[in-house]
Amino acid sequence: MKIPILMYHQICEQVSPGTPFRGLLVRPAAFRRQMALMHLLGYQGLSMSGLLPYLQGKAVGKVFGITFDDGYLNNLELALPVLQRYGFSATCYAVSRMLGQTNAWDIAQGVPQVPLMTAKELSEWIDQGQEVGSHTCDHLKLPQLDEVSQRYQLMQSRMDLERDLPSQEAVRHFCYPYGAFDRDTVQLVQQAGYQSATTTRRGRADVGSANDLLLLPRVLVSRRTSLPLFALKCFSAYEDRRGTSAY
Ligand SMILES: [Zn+2]
Repeated sequence: MKIPILMYHQICEQVSPGTPFRGLLVRPAAFRRQMALMHLLGYQGLSMSGLLPYLQGKAVGKVFGITFDDGYLNNLELALPVLQRYGFSATCYAVSRMLGQTNAWDIAQGVPQVPLMTAKELSEWIDQGQEVGSHTCDHLKLPQLDEVSQRYQLMQSRMDLERDLPSQEAVRHFCYPYGAFDRDTVQLVQQAGYQSATTTRRGRADVGSANDLLLLPRVLVSRRTSLPLFALKCFSAYEDRRGTSAY
């Protein structure tokens, strides 16, 4: 049994030609069509908290996960209304020390800077039935850090977000920046008390495999993903065979 966990970054209309990683900027109309299709087929879109019992094999149903990396303001402005329309919930992974700033970690690659949600905007996201997970404090490649720094990024980001977002009970879900991890990192994620962690490894998640909850693969939805391809990614082995990093 496989469950697709969709990976989105930004939802936005305009992209200037030549923008690096512009494939990660999904058009609002495409996002709407994707969610409408899942709804039409009777599937319920869930945040990682909502999805967890299904991943553990404790619940069974037509469900899929929805995740947004980095915490862009356009998630609140353009994705939230669509999620609400269908009664879906999603997890947005925020970078705890960069709330209200921009995706500064992308500057060196020439990626245009766009606003990230402030604590107030993330609280609004939560108040509208959505979830916030951690994407570290500073969007760093964890395996490049020593153990103390990795622990800090994992623990402190949780504490930052739990302090800044009191309307969410706890931060229990994690996403590896750049999809970067090694064996030590995964162990540290577990020790930091996270219940799940998503990667950029492509594929659908296996049900009932407890070890894999900290190494969850996702289904990459890009600007070029047509609706038929989206369906293929969610309902066939297409994405499971990709296996490589999304970047
Ligand atoms: Zn990221």
